[in-house]
Amino acid sequence: MEYIDLRSDTVTKPTPAMREAMAKAEVGDDVFGDDPTINQLQELAASMTGKEAGLYVPSGTMGNLVGILAHCGRGDEAVLGARAHTVLYEGGGISYLGGVHSRQVMEQPDGSLKLDDIAAILRPDDIHQPPTKLVSIENTHNRCGGTFQTPEYIRSLADFAHERGLVVHMDGARVFNAAAAQKVDVNQLTGPVDSVTFCLSKGLCAPVGSVLCGSQVFINRARHIRKHLGGGMRQAGIIAAAGIVALETMTKRLVEDHARARTLAEGLSEISGLALDGMPPTNMVFFNLSESITLTVEQIEEKMKAHGVLVHATGARRFRLVTHYWIDDAALEKTISAFKEVLRG
Ligand SMILES: *Cc1c(COP(=O)(O)O)cnc(C)c1O
Repeated sequence: MEYIDLRSDTVTKPTPAMREAMAKAEVGDDVFGDDPTINQLQELAASMTGKEAGLYVPSGTMGNLVGILAHCGRGDEAVLGARAHTVLYEGGGISYLGGVHSRQVMEQPDGSLKLDDIAAILRPDDIHQPPTKLVSIENTHNRCGGTFQTPEYIRSLADFAHERGLVVHMDGARVFNAAAAQKVDVNQLTGPVDSVTFCLSKGLCAPVGSVLCGSQVFINRARHIRKHLGGGMRQAGIIAAAGIVALETMTKRLVEDHARARTLAEGLSEISGLALDGMPPTNMVFFNLSESITLTVEQIEEKMKAHGVLVHATGARRFRLVTHYWIDDAALEKTISAFKEVLRG
């Protein structure tokens, strides 16, 4: 059975054009810097994000880990949002592997970190306290509903941080969604920050990989750290080739996923028992189950699966549905009618 899979945009499989590019990719040993396809992907990513250099990494988690470790030494402090992916879903890697102390600020509902909140926790130069080195922001922000940050906010955060001697890292796993939703060039979002990592393997449909971008000096350091972590790959141009197709052809079409997320939200909002968060800003639809629904989220997942639709709960009474390249209008209709049937009992 071919399922309609709304659990995440990570489920996207490579497109036929990607498979063709993968089959034809020229490769070499990337640990020696000899893989022309990886070099091309890294250069393309750097130029799109307005940075000097890029580094291909196996996952977004490694992109954030390598990025933060390349900025911070052991005992340094990184300021992150309390609901950031790096805090919640990356195994505490920055402290486990890098000895980086994480300090959390609760995000605003739109996923931003309020500058006053950051100012309030900055450390004085005092031997009792870990030196604060970095601020990390997430764009789009997953737990905050797929919300995006504006060029103006990012510029003001970067200015604020730089005036205080801090660097800014952006977890831009879905930064191309943030750019598409605002109809701005991605470099308006990434230009002001010191480093950014984004995923090729989510809405952009490539099978594997992320790229970390920043200054040449930063990327040279990051390359060492990637090697320490065992992330130096050899003829990985095979997979990087799909990343080039992703950057060249898949970034602008993300607006279609956003439009479908709104259509899905509208359809679901008419079903009694589902309390939508509001209109989705990008490709994620969040809703809670009202008390009138006696089914558990697990029962709903199971019943939806029997209707050919895979959905994923993110809380005891909460769901997140994600639209992507492989979700078309017919899939939306089927999903909405399946929810109607399942919740009718
Ligand atoms: C998916 C994601 C990552 C990294 O994910 P990987 O699964 O390691 O590629 C990082 N940050 C955010 C916000 C994400 O959604």
